[in-house]
Amino acid sequence: MKTFYSPIHLEHDPQVQFEGGQLQPAVELPVRAERVKAEIGVRRIGPILPPTAFDDAPILRVHDAGLVEFLGEAFDEWIKRYGKNSPAAIPSAWPAHGLRDGRHGDIEARLGSYAFSSDTPILRGTWAASREAANVALSAAEAVRAGEKAAFALTRPPGHHAAGDVFGGFCYLNNIAIAAQYLADAGLRPAVLDVDYHHGNGTQSIFYSRPDVFFCSVHADPAFAYPHFLGFADEHGDGAGEGANLNLPLPAGTDWTRYDEALGHALAAVKAFGPDVVLVSLGLDTYIEDPIASFRLKAADYLRLGARLAELHKPTVFTFEGGYCVEALGEIAVNVLEGFQGA
Ligand SMILES: [Zn+2]
Repeated sequence: MKTFYSPIHLEHDPQVQFEGGQLQPAVELPVRAERVKAEIGVRRIGPILPPTAFDDAPILRVHDAGLVEFLGEAFDEWIKRYGKNSPAAIPSAWPAHGLRDGRHGDIEARLGSYAFSSDTPILRGTWAASREAANVALSAAEAVRAGEKAAFALTRPPGHHAAGDVFGGFCYLNNIAIAAQYLADAGLRPAVLDVDYHHGNGTQSIFYSRPDVFFCSVHADPAFAYPHFLGFADEHGDGAGEGANLNLPLPAGTDWTRYDEALGHALAAVKAFGPDVVLVSLGLDTYIEDPIASFRLKAADYLRLGARLAELHKPTVFTFEGGYCVEALGEIAVNVLEGFQGA
């Protein structure tokens, strides 16, 4: 299996994040992708290739031009306002109920209007890394379109929380949605399966009214887990997209037995949709030792997860999403790829 990777992700290096009411050490760190890359080398999953540079057109197929422009200039605007000693643009106010949209306002108004959470800082290198992650995802999609059985986009920052015109949840551009749309535009019928611990609210939103792209997510119930406002079982799609969205929320403490049962439903639904290509949002924060999550999957379960995904017998694009147990991340990510390849 080909892996696509770019060292430009290293330029996005957050130090702190706002969580649980206080500033905490950041968890979405460069070392995450580096550990996975190292393990891919050790276990010889396949070649690690640089991405092709794509122009903005495939990004603008799923993202609002205003968001893309804002992400490209937000850090400079922030520094102009607050000076070089304020290394990260973080929103502090949002246009919630009763307030006016601020997408054409000053830097604070724009930040609050384009972000949905405070956990996603914009640093000097954030845009370069996010833009390159889209190239990584598109390169993996193109490899599969051209005939590869599977490809892994080692994307960082992750993408599945970013919607068409709003970023958050450590995500800026929605890598997997950009890749899925790219494949749809090539005449294929994509299904996205999100196995990250958190619901892929951004991906769901982007395709929610669409009958031609299926979205299915197995995740922690938003009744107690991030992203809190989307990912419930009664969200089936809207209008022409009715029936092309499936959420399978699970309780805290979910172990492999319970998870596998939900995964079986997800795989059956994906199969019923009849896709030409499957895209997997590969989050590894379902791991028992993950510092910000509550599921109980063990290392060997990720081999099983990979093998089950292979049961679909479809060309498959994997994109890297969450997963914050740095010590285990390489092993469990590559377990999925190896389980898939070996099945
Ligand atoms: Zn996650």
